[in-house]
Amino acid sequence: LLEHGQATRSVVTTCAYCGVGCSFRAELQGERLVRMVPNKDGQANHGHSCVKGRFATGYVTHRERILEPMLRARISDPWRKVGWDEAIAHVAAEFRRIQAKYGRDSIGGITSSRCTNEETYLVQKLVRAAFGSNNVDTCARVCHSPTGYGLKSTLGESAGTQDFDSVMHADVIFVIGANPTDAHPVFASQLKRRLRRGARLIVADPRRIELVRAPHVRADHHLQLRPGTNVALLDALAHVVVVEGLVDEAFVRERCEADSFARWRAFVAAPANSPEALEAVTGVPAAEVRAAARLYATGGNAAIYYGLGVTEHSQGSTAVMAIANLAMATGNLGRVGVGVNPLRGQNNVQGSCDMGSFPHEFPGYRHVADDAVRATFERAWGVPLQAEPGLRIPNMFEAALDGEFKGLYIQGEDIAQSDPNTQHVTAALAAMECVVVQDLFLNETAKFAHVFLPGSTFLEKDGTFTNAERRVSRVRKVMEPRGGHADWEVTQLLSNALGYPMRYAHPSEIMDEIARLTPTFAGISFARIDALGSIQWPCNDEHPAGTPTMHVDAFVRGKGRFMLTEYVPTSEKVTAKHPLILTTGRILSQYNVGAQTRRTDNNRWHAEDRLEIHPHDAEQRGISDGDWVGIASRAGETVLRARLSDRMQPGVVYTTFHFPGSGANVITTENSDWATNCPEYKVTAVEVTRVSQP
Ligand code: SF4
Repeated sequence: LLEHGQATRSVVTTCAYCGVGCSFRAELQGERLVRMVPNKDGQANHGHSCVKGRFATGYVTHRERILEPMLRARISDPWRKVGWDEAIAHVAAEFRRIQAKYGRDSIGGITSSRCTNEETYLVQKLVRAAFGSNNVDTCARVCHSPTGYGLKSTLGESAGTQDFDSVMHADVIFVIGANPTDAHPVFASQLKRRLRRGARLIVADPRRIELVRAPHVRADHHLQLRPGTNVALLDALAHVVVVEGLVDEAFVRERCEADSFARWRAFVAAPANSPEALEAVTGVPAAEVRAAARLYATGGNAAIYYGLGVTEHSQGSTAVMAIANLAMATGNLGRVGVGVNPLRGQNNVQGSCDMGSFPHEFPGYRHVADDAVRATFERAWGVPLQAEPGLRIPNMFEAALDGEFKGLYIQGEDIAQSDPNTQHVTAALAAMECVVVQDLFLNETAKFAHVFLPGSTFLEKDGTFTNAERRVSRVRKVMEPRGGHADWEVTQLLSNALGYPMRYAHPSEIMDEIARLTPTFAGISFARIDALGSIQWPCNDEHPAGTPTMHVDAFVRGKGRFMLTEYVPTSEKVTAKHPLILTTGRILSQYNVGAQTRRTDNNRWHAEDRLEIHPHDAEQRGISDGDWVGIASRAGETVLRARLSDRMQPGVVYTTFHFPGSGANVITTENSDWATNCPEYKVTAVEVTRVSQP
């Protein structure tokens, strides 16, 4: 825990962990951080916090922080410490050498959902303006890219529809594929407050998550579906809404496209989409599905909250569209207490997407092929820009293995641990000639790096984060960057060395540029955020104070569009060799790949990833609680300790991915969402056997 002492000053800033975006007062004694105090005026958290944001800051001063740039010619060589000038000049020379030899598209960049909006904006600008390609992607590729695709296709905007406080006006709360207790703790507390005051709850999850039977909270329906069958379940719910006459006809007539609704209505009404027909697919009793659909459609204000259990599937984008369809059909959009709300995992995953981190979109989700939009950026940035979308992260790996992609700048991501099928990722990294990792620690990806540039923590820089409710909040510098530069400064140095000048004196100037070029951010500046506390985008002439609830009078795309959502089973099948399904998730005290939380006292509560297995499956395999078990899939093998748990249904096992080496991604496969390539982390066929201690 933090050392206690008398604070001499405090700085209000935003938590660097999950997408709730809690506001804190960082209290300091001189230059030393004494404690993090949740901010009573915080508009996302109202004075609440969790064990990560409040206590897990020890990594900032951890002895393993790398504070000097390092180089090596080959990944088998020892690191050599160098000054910033040499490191930046080396990267620029290497990237120009690679482009001269292999072509403009042979290098790219990956932005971080843990860095600020201003930093992700600069990395995508570096790639587009200085590298001259659109080869920029973000770790949202592996989490909420289907949210962007699905919500934009149906509603017209790649973001959730409500603020968190809206949940206090919901009568029915439908949580699907999300475990807020562990992943979004402060929002989970708010949600439970509403449930204790009488809201009804539907949970759809293969696992009996805490919300199903929390203290003083009981889910009315736990739809314990088989992993990989979200779309079938959502189609079955929609079938009941349509066939039992529960559609909000007036809302649909006024707000949605008539032809797409007619096609969708006929599609979901087909007998093949009835709960009875799909019971064998989902494993959820038809009567339970019918009761849940009636409750959602007729119980008053109904709000949907979903997470990676929806998106990280081969049909992730389809499931997001099915959720939007359901909300439109029942009129549960466009007012307080309803809506479609993705619970974003990382602190700034919404922001990194907003800032143009995708290879096909400029900031504000505008396609690179749009001539007018591209012309706007060309005028502002003073360089010609490419109209062809660049490579997504998985395409970068493929191109690297084909010998066509040779240089990668990675800011604040550990793709060798976080991305699926570790062996594939590391083979691709090993095939590159210049991998540049900018991070706090020598992470798994740094094992394949030729250049290491010290990163900066959220306490060491100014900027903004955007949380899951589109709330843009200030990150304020509490201490000087321990490595000498904030992350945005490093990107700027690299750009200048490459010959594309960047001359920002402060991140507020970067935000001013973002606001000039991005219509949804037009009214946002550091000064306005400081005055208002935070601002939810869109903020512009139309919405000068920001927008807590979206799509109020009309959808962003005009009329809401219903998309057909035919269930297509994943190609990942259980077999005699791999008879169990592995699904993955998170735990309260740890965060993502654990680079930060593993280096804090939070590690006491959860010091290893474990495999949860149902007692029935364990007994069949002679496995007792605490035994070491081997887990094998067609992609790889790993060893973890077993935890017997009836939270799982028989036939399904579960683990987290917070620790390197033995992590779940050694065994997850290359399968991904058809529209966005978001990996299918949630469904991997495996076998589990008892082994001796590794
Ligand atoms: Fe930080 Fe999320 Fe916890 Fe809030 S709920 S303190 S944002 S980790």
